[in-house]
Order: sequence, then structure tokens, then C-alpha cells
Amino acid sequence: MILPKYSLGIGDRFGRQGRAQLAAVVQAGARGVEITPVWNKSNREHVITRTSPESVRAEADAAVSALDWRRPYFVDADHITLKTVDPFIGASDFFTIDVTDFVGRPAPEPDVQNFVARYRRYAARDVIPGAPTASPDDIAATARKFLPAIREAGAIYQRVEAAKGRGRFVTEVSIDETDQPQTPADLFFILAAIASEAIPLQTIAPKFAGRFNKGVDYMGDVAHFEKQFGDYIAVVALAVREFDLPANLKLSVHSGSDKFSIYGPMAHALRQHGAGLHLKTAGTTWLEEVAGLAQAGGAALTLVQKIYTQAHARIEEVCAPYAAVIDIDRRRLPSPETVRSWSGADYVAALHHDQHCPAYNPYFRQLLHVGFKVAAEMGAQYLQALDAHADIIGPLVTENLLERHVLAVFGEVAVPR
Ligand SMILES: [Zn+2]
Repeated sequence: MILPKYSLGIGDRFGRQGRAQLAAVVQAGARGVEITPVWNKSNREHVITRTSPESVRAEADAAVSALDWRRPYFVDADHITLKTVDPFIGASDFFTIDVTDFVGRPAPEPDVQNFVARYRRYAARDVIPGAPTASPDDIAATARKFLPAIREAGAIYQRVEAAKGRGRFVTEVSIDETDQPQTPADLFFILAAIASEAIPLQTIAPKFAGRFNKGVDYMGDVAHFEKQFGDYIAVVALAVREFDLPANLKLSVHSGSDKFSIYGPMAHALRQHGAGLHLKTAGTTWLEEVAGLAQAGGAALTLVQKIYTQAHARIEEVCAPYAAVIDIDRRRLPSPETVRSWSGADYVAALHHDQHCPAYNPYFRQLLHVGFKVAAEMGAQYLQALDAHADIIGPLVTENLLERHVLAVFGEVAVPR
């Protein structure tokens, strides 16, 4: 099972927008931009929304059949660990193995020394793109930091392979939620370790420099990001050659959505290197639902005002699982009273990610982004509102995904020449 060169990891908190999301991929295809949809949902999200992995499979299959999609598509068990993988095995054919918790655990020193002996040939010359010569001590430091994590990835991979069979699913390894970005040399030796675990890796999600906060733009040095992104692409290509990893191995960017300022540089680097990309980016589908409900007005507007009021009252609780990927200045949040006085247009203006609009409030947006727990608890009431206003919400979801994400990243890249 091979993941094509350009793929998009779309997520959907409440399982109602699969068709609208796939419509964006279909419309991109009509413009010559060919990408593969991958529906992903993490265990963390399933717990909060009280859904099961089967629901994602059902949503993807229903969308595919409704739109008569005849090309490949996948269902991704996102950020799974040995503890959480089992319920995903039946419904998924893409597994994002998350070993962040094992990064930095002590590695046995004999293993470290064996690793250095095996790979010290890469220490002699400036072979690793973007990295100065990695000394044997550097290789040892990388091994000490990452070997236990890669061993764990091997154990998780084996668990899935035993159940599904080799070649019957796509494997990603994610280390994007670590404290520090990896260096190009780290990434190179991590890929060496993954190859020695015999994991047929198709995508790798490293941690990039800068902040990838949920639903808002990239925060960091864009020029530095572009250099790092290009270096990582070159490292992946070298590792494929040196370690006999799958030829389609590519980077996976867990964007947290809406990283508009780096989309251009990413597209540029992909074109320059002829590289593929897996981009996970549909988290804001839930915010398009909120925007659509606000726009609908009446009881739907009241509902999304209530969601904000409750998220605001429970800010510690709703932010806690996402603490590493949000920055909310609480003094700059509108009060619930203010939000209750807003029209639908006021609400949408504060929420809509338009950095040129003076009414746009990124703190309001981030709090709502993590506030989906409140909507999940509303259960049928929230889902019925989505169904009642599907004609407003669906086109918002499709247009947002197509115009602001798919075409921005892949528009100039994934086209026949
Ligand atoms: Zn991630």
C-alpha cells in the first residue's frame, strides 16, 4: 500500500464534513492538482468527542461513495502509541506512530556504541545536507536521545503488522511534539535507526523550528523555516538512498492548520527538490462549522455564543490537552457578555482568520479551536444544528480547504508538466 506523492491529512472533529472536505480535493483535481485524501483523527480527539475509530472509516467511505471518488484514500490512526493503537487497527490503513514520550529516555550505552560503530562512516565527511560534519560524539548524542523512541516505534509497528500484514498499511513516525526541533543530522540518524527496525516508513513528521499553534499562523523566522524544510527534504532523500527506505518516503507536516506564511516557502522547496509532502491540515473544519452557525443567525448563533461562554468559563480545562500548541493572551479575549451581544457578522469577523481585518482576534479563535469539547458535550443539539445548516457550512468547509490550503501548498506543485 503506497501513499502517493502529494497527500492531505484532513480531520473532522464531528464526522459531518467528510463530503465537504473531499469536495475540495475533487475540485482541486478538476484544476489539475492531484492529491490523496487521508482522514485522520487522534486518540486524544476521539476521547474528547467520544467517538470511535470506526466512525472515521464510516465517514471516509460514505464521502468516497457519495462523490464517486475512485482514487486512493486512507484512514489514519493519528498519534497512536502502544497503549492506544489496538482499537484503531481494524478501521485504519495508515498509522501515525507517536513516540514523543520516549524521546530522551536513557538508551543503554552498549546500544549507543554499536550505533556509532555502524554509522561512523557518516562522520568523516560533510555528507548530511544542512549539517556540519557530525562527529562520532554527535552521533552518540543523537543515539542516546532517540534510540529508545525508535525501538518503541518498532514495537508499535510490529503490533500493527502482526494484525494487518506487511505492506497492508502506510506507516508514519511522528516526533513533532518534542520540546526541541531536530537537527538535520538528528533526522538522518533517526531515519537510520528506523530503517534498522525494518519499519517501511512512508512519512516522517519531525519538529520544525517555530511555533505551530492551533488554527493560527506560523510564529517564527520564515526564512529559517524554509532553509530547515529544504534541508530535511534533502536528508530524507539521502536516507532513502543510504538506508534502503521506501522510495516514496516524504516529510509530513502537522500544521495545526492555517500556516499561511510558510505555505509559499514549502511549495517552493517541494518544487525545487521534486519532493512529495503529506500535509495534515483540516483542524479548522470545526471552526468553519462554528462560523457557518454564527452566519446562520438565530438559534444557531445563540448556540455558538453559548459554546464560547462555556469554553471561556472552562478555559483551564479545555486548553490543558493543547497547552504546548496554543498561546492565548487572556486579557485580550472578549468577555462572554460581549460575545452574546454580537451579531453573526461580528462573531464571524472576530473568528475568521484574516490578519488584515481589525476585528480578527487570534485568541478568540484559538480558544474556540480547543473548545470543541463543549460542542461535543452538547451532543445531539450540536449535531442537529450542523445538519440543519449544512447548506451554509458545507461550502465554507470546501472553500476554506481548497482556496486557503490545498491550492496554496499544492497548486503550483502537484500539476502535470
Ligand atoms: Zn502532530
